[in-house]
Amino acid sequence: MQSQSAPMSSFFGPLNPGLPGVILVLDPYSMITSPMQNSDSSARSCGGCTACCDGWLTANILGHDVAPGKPCHFRGVGGCTIYENRPADPCRGFICGWLRKGSPFPENFRPDKLGVIILAKPWRDRVAYVLVPAGRQPDAALLEWMQQYSTATGTPFLFNLDGRPRGYGSPEFQKDIFDKASRGEPLLPGLNPRPGGPCKLTPLELEI
Ligand code: SF4
Ligand code: SF4
Repeated sequence: MQSQSAPMSSFFGPLNPGLPGVILVLDPYSMITSPMQNSDSSARSCGGCTACCDGWLTANILGHDVAPGKPCHFRGVGGCTIYENRPADPCRGFICGWLRKGSPFPENFRPDKLGVIILAKPWRDRVAYVLVPAGRQPDAALLEWMQQYSTATGTPFLFNLDGRPRGYGSPEFQKDIFDKASRGEPLLPGLNPRPGGPCKLTPLELEI
């Protein structure tokens, strides 16, 4: 685990620093395990998940746009119809945060089950996570899990709430996010610069 170098924030709204933090109303959610419980991600595979092909992320695959409401042109009933010939960028290179080696996320966070794709993005010398709706918005229980994990490990994360980017992380992370937002830049690599816009499907950019 990474040590925590600075106090973690309450939730903040990167583009609306004057807004109060998000008030989380917690519901019992027995399917979600504690972030302090170990998950074994060493032998994971996508299995029946096709979330990253289903149009929750944006991409252009061999000339065909993928976007919210528009799954990949090559996504068939049983999965990818061109699996052996799928492009390297982004298809072969994309690994979501749940599938990634060393993933801290429990088994039931597989994106098609969770309804949320967790992206792993580089931030400084560490990883930051981005919660992308894949059928539902991150709920209070998921945000509470992420907040506990973030507080324990110093790993920041971003998500959208009502079309506004929100995040949780150290003062350094907040400053980076505010600065990028004020310059109109993507908040993290591969994110759409438009606030609340869909994230791009991109190959994994980090080896952490
Ligand atoms: S979202 Fe993750 S688990 Fe699901 S198909 Fe894509 S890489 Fe595999
Ligand atoms: S071409 Fe890529 S995005 Fe499209 S279904 Fe196959 S793996 Fe998914």
